Amino acid sequence: MAEIIEIDDHRPHITAELACMYCKGRAICCWMEDTPMKDLECGHCGEVGGLIKTGQYLR
Ligand SMILES: [Zn+2]
Repeated sequence: MAEIIEIDDHRPHITAELACMYCKGRAICCWMEDTPMKDLECGHCGEVGGLIKTGQYLR
Protein backbone atom coordinates (compact mmCIF):
# COMPACT_ATOMS: atom_id res chain seq x y z
CA MET A 1 0.00 0.00 0.00
CA ALA A 2 1.29 3.46 -0.90
CA GLU A 3 2.45 5.80 1.84
CA ILE A 4 0.28 8.89 2.27
CA ILE A 5 2.30 12.03 3.00
CA GLU A 6 1.27 15.51 4.10
CA ILE A 7 2.03 17.81 1.15
CA ASP A 8 2.41 20.85 3.42
CA ASP A 9 5.44 19.14 5.03
CA HIS A 10 7.19 19.16 1.63
CA ARG A 11 6.79 22.73 0.33
CA PRO A 12 7.98 24.47 -1.72
CA HIS A 13 7.85 21.99 -4.56
CA ILE A 14 7.80 22.01 -8.37
CA THR A 15 5.33 20.20 -10.61
CA ALA A 16 6.10 19.80 -14.31
CA GLU A 17 5.99 17.35 -17.19
CA LEU A 18 9.43 15.78 -17.61
CA ALA A 19 10.89 13.64 -20.40
CA CYS A 20 13.74 11.17 -19.98
CA MET A 21 16.63 11.50 -22.46
CA TYR A 22 17.52 7.82 -21.89
CA CYS A 23 14.21 6.02 -22.44
CA LYS A 24 12.01 8.82 -23.89
CA GLY A 25 9.44 8.21 -21.12
CA ARG A 26 7.28 11.17 -20.03
CA ALA A 27 5.50 11.83 -16.77
CA ILE A 28 4.01 14.59 -14.65
CA CYS A 29 6.50 14.84 -11.76
CA CYS A 30 6.61 16.65 -8.44
CA TRP A 31 9.83 17.26 -6.49
CA MET A 32 11.25 19.50 -3.79
CA GLU A 33 12.33 22.90 -5.10
CA ASP A 34 15.84 22.56 -3.60
CA THR A 35 16.48 19.19 -5.30
CA PRO A 36 18.57 19.64 -8.47
CA MET A 37 17.00 18.08 -11.57
CA LYS A 38 20.27 16.17 -12.15
CA ASP A 39 19.43 14.14 -9.02
CA LEU A 40 15.94 13.10 -10.17
CA GLU A 41 15.36 9.44 -11.10
CA CYS A 42 13.27 8.40 -14.08
CA GLY A 43 10.21 6.43 -12.98
CA HIS A 44 10.28 4.40 -16.20
CA CYS A 45 13.90 3.25 -16.57
CA GLY A 46 15.46 4.21 -13.22
CA GLU A 47 18.30 6.28 -14.72
CA VAL A 48 19.38 9.39 -12.80
CA GLY A 49 20.20 12.72 -14.43
CA GLY A 50 18.38 12.32 -17.74
CA LEU A 51 15.16 14.20 -17.02
CA ILE A 52 14.36 17.51 -18.70
CA LYS A 53 11.28 19.74 -18.60
CA THR A 54 9.11 19.48 -21.72
CA GLY A 55 7.65 22.97 -21.34
CA GLN A 56 4.13 21.57 -21.49
CA TYR A 57 1.67 23.85 -19.66
CA LEU A 58 -0.22 22.22 -16.81
CA ARG A 59 -3.75 23.45 -16.13
ZN1 LIG B 1 13.94 6.91 -18.37
